[in-house]
Formats: sequence, structure tokens, C-alpha cells
Amino acid sequence: MDNGIISEILELKDEKDAVILAHSYQPPEIQDIADHVGDSLQLSRTAASTRSSVIVFCGVRFMAETAHILSPEKTVLLPEPEAGCPLADCIEVPALRSMQDVYPDALTVLYVNSPADVKAESYACCTSANALEVVESVPSDEIIFAPDRNLGTFVSRKSDKTIHIWNGACRCHATADIQNIRAVMEEWSDAELLVHPETPPEVWELAHAVLGTGGMIKHVAESSSQRFIIGTEEGMAYRLKTLYPDREFRTGGNIYCVNMKKITLQKILDSLKKLEPAIELDTEIREKAYAAVARMTEITG
Ligand code: SF4
Repeated sequence: MDNGIISEILELKDEKDAVILAHSYQPPEIQDIADHVGDSLQLSRTAASTRSSVIVFCGVRFMAETAHILSPEKTVLLPEPEAGCPLADCIEVPALRSMQDVYPDALTVLYVNSPADVKAESYACCTSANALEVVESVPSDEIIFAPDRNLGTFVSRKSDKTIHIWNGACRCHATADIQNIRAVMEEWSDAELLVHPETPPEVWELAHAVLGTGGMIKHVAESSSQRFIIGTEEGMAYRLKTLYPDREFRTGGNIYCVNMKKITLQKILDSLKKLEPAIELDTEIREKAYAAVARMTEITG
């Protein structure tokens, strides 16, 4: 690891009154220098509560947008502007409006992995951890759930509501390599398999638990198992190893998000030097998107 660049980042961070937030899917060297590591919503809440005026968001665009939605008075930097999310990009406002026209009585529940302008068109946002709770709580028995079809299917199997599911997916999770998972399970037959609900249903059937990243952290804390196979983006195994050095973790499914790996130490340094690229959103979109995020918070606390 380049200690010179790390020292420069840490000095500049203080000078610019910045805080560095990293998603659990970020590479190890980014997680190691971050002030906070977590899931997208946790990090956005941290961004809103921090006293720092500058947020360096090491993740993908929709996450940095959500941080900006929750704390518009702060400068939110996304060190690599091309760090997008194919799942978020698979839904656009005109197409969602067309679906809403087909189901006029349905309320739209939108996974936070979505663009700000689409959030602005939805009734409430949700995360992978609280999707079922949000769906159950919104005042309609008919729901449009977007954009992840696997998470939508996961929720619909547990809910009695009528759920119209958008046909989008996270390319990395949706193409999880089941043969690889089976092979790792054979080698580590005593391990628990924890998988993300963005993986397909046939993966859930193999798993001990289907959980978002925050749920995986909690599950490991409460489990008596020593070994875990992690069926989500590989950065999460590093996160868990850091939190629980006395347990053993392996990834299963070869789930790798190329967009999450676009942030580098050099890009963080450059971003801090110039205080750009910063997230900017149209005020009306930001305020409407805030209302959808706030509804989720009202429901889930
Ligand atoms: S892992 Fe999937 S949902 Fe997450 S940022 Fe990458 S492409 Fe998007």
C-alpha cells in the first residue's frame, strides 16, 4: 500500500473538513482509510449527521445522490463520476410512469438502488433490509416494486399484497455462479451460507439466511458458527473479516462489482484537492426524492 498517498489524503481530509465514507463493497485499501464503512443508507445517515462540510463518498452514484438528498447543505464528492450502477440505470422516469398508468391504484416502493429522479416519482424508498416492512406498511394493497426483480420476488413471497415487479437486476448478483457456491459449500461443509436477496431464488434455496449487508453483520455477531460463505459482492468478506477477526469467511458465487472498484486512492486524493466532482441535483427532484426517503424512515424508524 502507498503510505505516501494515504498520508496526503488524511492531511487534506482535515484541511478540507471532510469525512470519507466507504461502502462495504469497496476495495480493502479504501475501506481501511475510511472514517465509516457501511451500507448505502447507513452511510447517507452518517453523512447527514456528521459535522464535516465535505463528504467523500466511496461507492456508486446513487449512493452519493442519496447522501446529497439527505444533506443538501454539504458538498458530496463522488471521486469517480463514472462509478454508476447498472441496476439503478435500468429504470427511467418515463418507463416507470407508464407502469404507474397501467396500475393506477398501486403505490410505488423503490429500492434505494435507483436514480434520484426516479425516487422523486415513487411513494416510498426501501433497502434490502426493510423492503418487506415498507411494502407491508404503505397504505395500499397493490404495489409497484422496482427496480430489482429478485428483491421484489423475495418480498412478494412473504407478503399477501399484489406486487407488480419491475424486471431489473443487479448484473453481478443476478449472475451469481451457483456451481462455485456449491463447490465452496462442499469444501466448507460446516459453514453457514449467507446470501443477498439480489441473487436469484435458486441461490436463496441453498442459503442458511438471505440478508442485506447490514443483516449479514448482525447475523455473524449472533451466530455460534465459526465459518461463513458470503454470497454477495466480495468486498463484504473483507468487511466481515475486519469486524470479526476470530471467524473465517470465504466468498461464494464470484460476485464482483466492477463499478464499486472504480474508486482508487489516487482519485480520492484528486477529488479532495479540487473538491470535485460534486453531486448536484435539481432542487425539485431532490425535495421530492427526499419525501420518498423520509417515508421509509417514518415507517422503519
Ligand atoms: S453490486 Fe450491483 S447493485 Fe450494487 S452497485 Fe454494483 S451493480 Fe449496483
